[in-house]
Amino acid sequence: MSVKLNIGWIGLGNMGTPMVKNLVKAGFEVTVYNRSAAKSEALSKEIQVGVAYSPAELLATSDVIITMLSDDNAVKELYERADGIFSAHPGRELTIVDMSTVSPETTKYLAGLCAEKGISYLDAPVAGSVKPAEEAQLVIMVGGDEKIYEKVKPAFDALGRMSVYLGENGKANVAKLSVNLLLGIVDQGLAEAVIFARKNGLSAELLLPLINASAVGCGVTKMKTDNILNNDFKPAFALKLLAKDIRLATENGMDTPVGKSLHTTLQSATAKGYGDQDMIAVFKYLSEN
Ligand code: NAP
Repeated sequence: MSVKLNIGWIGLGNMGTPMVKNLVKAGFEVTVYNRSAAKSEALSKEIQVGVAYSPAELLATSDVIITMLSDDNAVKELYERADGIFSAHPGRELTIVDMSTVSPETTKYLAGLCAEKGISYLDAPVAGSVKPAEEAQLVIMVGGDEKIYEKVKPAFDALGRMSVYLGENGKANVAKLSVNLLLGIVDQGLAEAVIFARKNGLSAELLLPLINASAVGCGVTKMKTDNILNNDFKPAFALKLLAKDIRLATENGMDTPVGKSLHTTLQSATAKGYGDQDMIAVFKYLSEN
């Protein structure tokens, strides 16, 4: 597929918005749809994108429709609702790519519906948060037909530093849930280390730089250091989304000790109102509860 391919994009959240900017920067024609139309309209004033007011509207102009939505229900809704992607026959060869973090079951279900309609389907969730999305440094995991992956790869190249083909539909979701299981464990581990040190009279200001300089220091510990030090829990990756991912892992057989404990913590933190804050608000939750 050439750089001229037309992309319909659904979902202008924390991730979707910078990803669209990178596609436009790379020369793709992009038309966006978002539930809150104000976000699409604001983006169209900032960069060269078309605005659609229903998912179905994208069918007329898109070679590829990419979804970047919160969860399984949001994705299914935008495909299946009355004015959704499946509501009309695409007038051309169409590939749908779902880059949201959803379950392998949802991917297999939607891929099956696409196959019946002659539409190609890829699951292509991403590792990396808002900053990597802004800097086109995402790691993109891909499941589906390898030939279709090769066709869409120029778009992935505009969004990430690498994309990896992993096998049939659903495999990329499994990879993503595995990555986020580890992400959640590191996130909560960081919070617990700071809480333990503080309880014993050692400040986060002293502890965090030495964690980051040591063998356990990593992207996550470095990225979340300033959040802890500045008491800043504005969401880059909302805690409720991580809780969703660990729930999906649990529903797919994750029953190992640290993961099970993480699941309990995140469900409780979400129930107690911490869900809309960043995932490192697990630090705040564990400190306050
Ligand atoms: P977000 O900021 O919460 O944005 C969610 C998007 O989904 C918004 O465009 C929202 O529309 C739309 N949406 C939600 N429910 C909907 C519904 N029922 N109908 C129509 N639209 C709906 O989420 P995000 O952080 O961009 O994450 C998107 C996906 O990427 C999630 O699956 C997440 O797990 C995954 N992910 C996130 C990160 C991260 O660091 N943030 C990293 C890797 C992967 P409105 O604007 O109208 O609310």
